[in-house]
Amino acid sequence: MPVYEYRCDECGETFEWFVRSAAQGAPPVCPRCQSQRVHKRISLFGVGSAGGDKSTASSCGPAL
Ligand SMILES: [Zn+2]
Repeated sequence: MPVYEYRCDECGETFEWFVRSAAQGAPPVCPRCQSQRVHKRISLFGVGSAGGDKSTASSCGPAL
């Protein structure tokens, strides 16, 4: 189940929206102000909190 991250244009709230396979029933609404003026943020598998491995790998990686 893909999870997309949305950001509200009204209040700036960021929230995650669970999107079903192909038929997306209801449009995403802001859980804070119930506004539908939201836009999707690109987050590929960004659900995990153990990220940022590339930034650290560049500093302590093998020197060529
Ligand atoms: Zn909002």
